[in-house]
Amino acid sequence: MPAFPRPIASKLPNVGTTIFTVMSRLAQEHNAINLSQGFPDFDCAKELRDLVTKYFNAGLNQYPPMAGVMRLRERIAEKVGALYGTQYDPEHEVTVTPGATYGIFTAVATLVRPGDEVILFEPAYDSYAPAIEVNGGTPVYVQLRYPDYSIDWQRVQQAITPKTRMILINTPNNPTASVLSGEDMRMLEGMLRGTGIVVVSDEVYEHIVFDGHRHQSVARFPGLAERSFVVSSFGKTYHVTGWKMGYVLAPKELMAEFRKVHQFNVFVTNGPLQYALAEYMENKDAYLSLAAFYQKKRDFFLQGVRGSRFKPLPSRGTFFQNLAYDAISNERDMDLAIRLTKERGVASIPVSVFYRKPPDHKVLRFCFAKSEETLARGAEILCKI
Ligand code: PMP
Ligand code: GLN
Repeated sequence: MPAFPRPIASKLPNVGTTIFTVMSRLAQEHNAINLSQGFPDFDCAKELRDLVTKYFNAGLNQYPPMAGVMRLRERIAEKVGALYGTQYDPEHEVTVTPGATYGIFTAVATLVRPGDEVILFEPAYDSYAPAIEVNGGTPVYVQLRYPDYSIDWQRVQQAITPKTRMILINTPNNPTASVLSGEDMRMLEGMLRGTGIVVVSDEVYEHIVFDGHRHQSVARFPGLAERSFVVSSFGKTYHVTGWKMGYVLAPKELMAEFRKVHQFNVFVTNGPLQYALAEYMENKDAYLSLAAFYQKKRDFFLQGVRGSRFKPLPSRGTFFQNLAYDAISNERDMDLAIRLTKERGVASIPVSVFYRKPPDHKVLRFCFAKSEETLARGAEILCKI
């Protein structure tokens, strides 16, 4: 193939391959236990796979409705109403999307214009800033406080300018495994009152909150719900990250704009999977039991690394456990993550990659969405480091 004949003015000049791809590839090359990229090493429920087979064989293989299959939108609205107390209208306020990454990107593309500012928190999930920048927006970063990764709301207030179009939040939070409290949400609600600032709330780990705490969805807070896109993913909830299925909720006026972009971005989301998910959602236990399921794994992993020199930071939600390694090495986290993968056979994610200017925190992120056997083998290695 001849080379493209001109220099390319990249829209994302500083972006390379995502850390998840890099570390998973390295883990594979070195046959290491992969606790880096966040995905289960066990399969989804057989019942769900059977439903997929059923609907692939049900003659439903042409375009579904643009906003999503109605019975799935209804199940989503029912769930959100029951859990968070806000009634979204399935007709106008719920859209099924090919994953949460897409939902976030499309919400940003719907509203952010060149020159607009979007506030986000560091460390930030790696798709946020590129979504803002590719749409001409300017990311404005507020650092979470280390080591509890809490929000300093005064700093958020200072970051708001007349150009602020949007604020992007994520609870439970990847990569910090922190969660926002009801008090945090009320602070945000009060701060945004009387402004036109829109919230994009990434809640893909909504069902994975530990130690008896409640997930504080923006949908619980009327002053936030009225200005928010809520984004979630079936990938995390049903152990099907490879399906790329999710949904977005928003008030009718915002959703009408979202759908204008959605219909020309992807048009529709996979049909048969939507029918299968709609039927599977009738089994409420599958998502209501998820927090206990993952809490057990978190505790199993924590127990396993107890004798190690790693220091666990709090994991209050998600399927990640951060471990500080101050007592082990002075290396940069990226170097250590690579070395541990190659030399010790266990892969993790260096948390510094989620910062624009990495602070000198010595933290690696480990995914515990794994079988106990995998976690035990991983922990055993960590104890020897
Ligand atoms: N947001 C966060 C915080 C995530 O961890 C993930 C999982 N990769 C996503 C969004 C993306 O979800 P999906 O795979 O449905 O696009
Ligand atoms: N969200 C997953 C993680 O944080 C990975 C998703 C991806 O590979 N893009 O590890």
